Amino acid sequence: MRIENLCVKRQIGDVAGATTRGHKMAIKGGYIYQTFQGGYTLTPTGWRVVHKIENIIRDEMDSVDGQEILMPVVCTADLWRETGRYDAMAVLAKFKGSSGADYVICPTHEEVVTDYARSVIGSYRQLPFMLYQIQTKFRDELRVRAGLIRTREFIMKDGYSFHETQEDLERYYKLCFDAYYRIFRRCGLKNIVDVMSSTGDMGGAVAHEFQLVNEMGEDTLYICDCGFRANKELEDQQGGGENAVCPKCGKPMQKVRGIEIGNIFQLGKKYTDSMHMTYTAADGTEKTPIMGCYGIGVGRTMAAILEESADDNGPIWNMETAPFAVEVIGLVDKENKTLPMAEKIYNELKGAGVEVLLDTRDIRAGEKFADADLIAAPIRLIVSEKNLSRNVVEVKYRVNDFDTTAMPTEFKIETCVADTLTTIQKLLHK
Ligand SMILES: [Zn+2]
Repeated sequence: MRIENLCVKRQIGDVAGATTRGHKMAIKGGYIYQTFQGGYTLTPTGWRVVHKIENIIRDEMDSVDGQEILMPVVCTADLWRETGRYDAMAVLAKFKGSSGADYVICPTHEEVVTDYARSVIGSYRQLPFMLYQIQTKFRDELRVRAGLIRTREFIMKDGYSFHETQEDLERYYKLCFDAYYRIFRRCGLKNIVDVMSSTGDMGGAVAHEFQLVNEMGEDTLYICDCGFRANKELEDQQGGGENAVCPKCGKPMQKVRGIEIGNIFQLGKKYTDSMHMTYTAADGTEKTPIMGCYGIGVGRTMAAILEESADDNGPIWNMETAPFAVEVIGLVDKENKTLPMAEKIYNELKGAGVEVLLDTRDIRAGEKFADADLIAAPIRLIVSEKNLSRNVVEVKYRVNDFDTTAMPTEFKIETCVADTLTTIQKLLHK
């Protein structure tokens, strides 16, 4: 991709209307565009990042034998009436079709997935299994905030597992719990904590939230040195205030803000019972499976990275989430040698399958660098007259989960494509 053709509006300098650092970065870098309040278009670069986050999630869900499916966004009200949530769920957006039928825009898919699972299940031998999807959801929230942090429409990964026993659900729940930490680590997120939580609209008993500790968060978290963590429900139990005491060790707890990015629940039989999903157990009796569910906000994960990892100039991705791996910047020279060389390197990298961006525009070098900080490719190759006279390209790094201080700051022209490919692998921690 040549940078002049990239259909993304970047803004060097300050931007108006952003409420948090991450929101500011999302607008400055042109990763999102507000189509209406609470509804965003993901731009070509924003979609690249989101797509990469999705692929990390896919990879890790597949590693715990998750099976990807795709369910309808709009669903008949009948399924939601089976569980009673048609009337009980406040954020459910409802509408009438032209035939008069009642529909909902799904904010979550327990009903829809249970309907599918009950059509397949017969024997206990089929259990356990986990189905997941990555899809747009809609919640008719009263308030929206901070770009992709709280929106009405959002992309979510939602997974649902079905088990014979509570023990098996707990075993699998732990696998997903660990997979979630791998997902966040691969996204370059550092300050993630898990907290026990109540199950809200989902039903069930045990649940965990995965929260990014960040001052811009809308949730209150309590963290103790002994490892105990809780969300604001602890405040409700202890009567609130600044001096919450750890229920485990009795010491005062630290109060921080958090942004919820993921949550997992042990649902029990709430949905399988009310929707009459049964299987034949080994002893020949009909039994009801036990469910778990596992959600991650995909857009929110991007928002969280932008919130946590940026400097004054722009976002700092890692190699796995950056919209482009490499940007080749040619600085205009009088003899017109640099731009053909930048073009050649760009074409070779592109031919090698690298996601590479080329900037040979006739603008000041400073402007090119500032723009490059907004797109934030982890590797930048700079082709200038001075470098060419020494037969090298300059290499600059911008990456949030790799110490690049000992990495080479220039590549020889002859080996620069191979060196770049090696460096990409290195930055991917491979
Ligand atoms: Zn404690």
